[in-house]
Amino acid sequence: MAEGGHYDIVVLGGGSGGYACALRAALFGKRVALIEKDKVGGTCLHRGCIPTKALLHAAEVADSARDSEKFGVKAALEGIEMPGVLAYQQGVVERLWKGLQGTLAQRKIDTIAGEGKLISPTAVQVDGDAVYTGDHIVLATGSVPKSLPGLEIDHERVITSDEALVLDRVPASAIVLGGGVIGVEFASVWKSFGADVTIVEMLPQLLPLEEEASAKVLQRAFRRRGIEAVLGARFESVRHTDSGVEVTLAGGKTLQAEILLVAVGRGPVSAGLGYEDNGVAMTRGFVDVDGLCRTSVPTISAVGDLIATPQLAHVGFAEGIMVAERLGGLEVRPIDYDGVPRITYCDPEVASVGITTKQAAERGISLTSVDYPLGGNGRSVILQTQGSARVIAEETPSGPGRVLGIHLVGSRVGELIAEGQLIYNWDAEPMDVASLIHPHPTQSEIIGEAHLALAGKPLHFHA
Ligand SMILES: Cc1cc2nc3c(=O)[nH]c(=O)nc-3n(C[C@H](O)[C@H](O)[C@H](O)COP(=O)(O)OP(=O)(O)OC[C@H]3O[C@@H](n4cnc5c(N)ncnc54)[C@H](O)[C@@H]3O)c2cc1C
Repeated sequence: MAEGGHYDIVVLGGGSGGYACALRAALFGKRVALIEKDKVGGTCLHRGCIPTKALLHAAEVADSARDSEKFGVKAALEGIEMPGVLAYQQGVVERLWKGLQGTLAQRKIDTIAGEGKLISPTAVQVDGDAVYTGDHIVLATGSVPKSLPGLEIDHERVITSDEALVLDRVPASAIVLGGGVIGVEFASVWKSFGADVTIVEMLPQLLPLEEEASAKVLQRAFRRRGIEAVLGARFESVRHTDSGVEVTLAGGKTLQAEILLVAVGRGPVSAGLGYEDNGVAMTRGFVDVDGLCRTSVPTISAVGDLIATPQLAHVGFAEGIMVAERLGGLEVRPIDYDGVPRITYCDPEVASVGITTKQAAERGISLTSVDYPLGGNGRSVILQTQGSARVIAEETPSGPGRVLGIHLVGSRVGELIAEGQLIYNWDAEPMDVASLIHPHPTQSEIIGEAHLALAGKPLHFHA
């Protein structure tokens, strides 16, 4: 038997949630073991955030070349060479991966390669061999792509994001099943690369968790780009054809394409890992936690996609840090998940923080709101992007109260939501933001202008 060891904290899974916890705990002088069966960085670095955003950046470069004449620049898009795109993408991933490994080593975290299994409330066995014990265990085994009952992923024509990220060609045509963040981002990339793309979404809007008005703006923009979205459509079956796949929807409509990307969500990695056997309460494969990421077993915490909180890398970071601080003896507060910024990096981007109009109605909150079109923003006109900004605030007898939601659509608006999250999380009111000066000409003026309008002193705004 290989030698294990005893640690203050044993973290199972080296993705965003797990490694953030390890990095923060090490700063408290904790001895930490980080057990990872594949590569530290997990989904986000190797199969998620980073490689997709590299593809989306290459897509933006392709669009710039294709649209160059609009700006009086003579250039031509001759084609997309996927090996070149993948080499660029891998270069980005490798560089960040190397950096992460260096940081883990520098903080003296023991990274242990192998598949871990919980064998007691204080012990993890790796590859059925060495046992690592900890005063505390943090479960962070993340998630993998899900499918639908009867829908078999063959990894060639019927694929998930894992295969789509490393596809060595641009498909002539693609059906994307699922109009959530992942589906919409791949649809955007493939369209920019020249594919015919159809998105099939069961609910009546793309990005079902986003503000309805944002989804409408995105759907219009996608229509203009030639991306078809079949909404309110239920998948029934898929079969292979000579040239690809044929998808049948409820009601009998059929769609043909070279490939089908299944992007219907991600499920937790928890089966067979000894969680339930050791008393960890679970619901549908997710580990149950309280507001401080404590499980039903006092020595065990859980973070990231393994728990039923928003499946975002920065949520995993925040949960991992919170657990490390709690174990380090700091006073911690539950995360306000409404205050987590969300970005979909398609073209145009969709970004939001806070609650939607629908959620406000469900919670019985009266709202006041403004919609500021990007057509009134100099920088957005220069970029030739269309879109909108909606800011919603609580309606009070004395006028607009706390800002409750910021919902943006347009090229590059993802970068603006960082200001949005300060506004939401610091309980700002429109007047607080209206008094701040935004630099001109920037897209950040959209935020300033919307709050000026809400505060009753619109500038470039047709009330
Ligand atoms: C295509 C795509 C795009 C995305 N884009 C974004 C984005 O732009 N922004 C964003 O915020 N989020 C994005 N996400 C989501 C983000 O990647 C996840 O929310 C995040 O990676 C979750 O972190 P985690 O640590 O919980 O799990 P993971 O990153 O999945 O890490 C879990 C780790 O545990 C390891 N593991 C599992 N079981 C064991 C075991 N038994 N023993 C040892 N190791 C084990 C796995 O190998 C993995 O490395 C994207 C996801 C996908 C798929």
